[in-house]
Amino acid sequence: MAITASHQRFLQVLMSHGIMEGSAVRKLHRHCCEVHKAHYMPDKLDDFVAVINNHLQPLFMQIRKGTDENDGKRYYSLVNVAESDVTKMAMDYAENELELFRKTMDLIIDSDNGFASSTNILNLTDQLQTKKMKKKEVEQLLQSFVQEKWLIEKDGEYSLHTRCIMEMEHYIQSTYQDVVKTCNICHNIAIQGQICDNCGIKIHLTCVGKYFKGQEEPRCPQCAEAWSHEIPRLLQTDSQTPSTSQRNTRAGERRVNSVAAATRSRRS
Ligand SMILES: [Zn+2]
Ligand SMILES: [Zn+2]
Repeated sequence: MAITASHQRFLQVLMSHGIMEGSAVRKLHRHCCEVHKAHYMPDKLDDFVAVINNHLQPLFMQIRKGTDENDGKRYYSLVNVAESDVTKMAMDYAENELELFRKTMDLIIDSDNGFASSTNILNLTDQLQTKKMKKKEVEQLLQSFVQEKWLIEKDGEYSLHTRCIMEMEHYIQSTYQDVVKTCNICHNIAIQGQICDNCGIKIHLTCVGKYFKGQEEPRCPQCAEAWSHEIPRLLQTDSQTPSTSQRNTRAGERRVNSVAAATRSRRS
């Protein structure tokens, strides 16, 4: 299928955001088709994206879909597939800044909960081989990593941004293959999550929330020991497109219904 003005507009907007939530992407899809008088098929977003991806391939770029570890929502991101590791950030950061990012990534991935404290990151400055950094510079650099959606910050602790996980999935899997865990429920990389004290499996917070919802005595899906962590309350994810694994759940059904209702109300 040929690329049209509606595809171009879609790509431009996604590019300017870097990463966008699924419901915003669906709205954008509709908007681009309407503005350019293209035939709009709400359930053909994946095909629409595939047309763009075909044209992006020679440029080593790709639009990828992923799930956020915090809110469990779908996200779309434009990623650079030429470089799978931290060197894709080389345009924007100096060598010692990249070194600090790599070391921060080590801390985050080595931790149980997927977070590194700012104190621990600041302590890295003395270990830099390339060029030492002042604490102030590190603080500014961390801010920039958050702004550019490589890291997220929560109460002075840092984790990897969804965009970063989507862009560097292969790198994370190969570099940290002995350390990084996949979620026992959704089988995606799990950076932020809870670990079973008994058997050591890891589950995303959002997957924990969904899996143990309504259970009085939650037990590990792997070893059946009592789950010792607090079960996080689920955020509202009603705007989410149901994935195959959720279709059998009641929450999934609710989502299908709400999407169907939203589609109906858009038409009327
Ligand atoms: Zn999961
Ligand atoms: Zn277990």
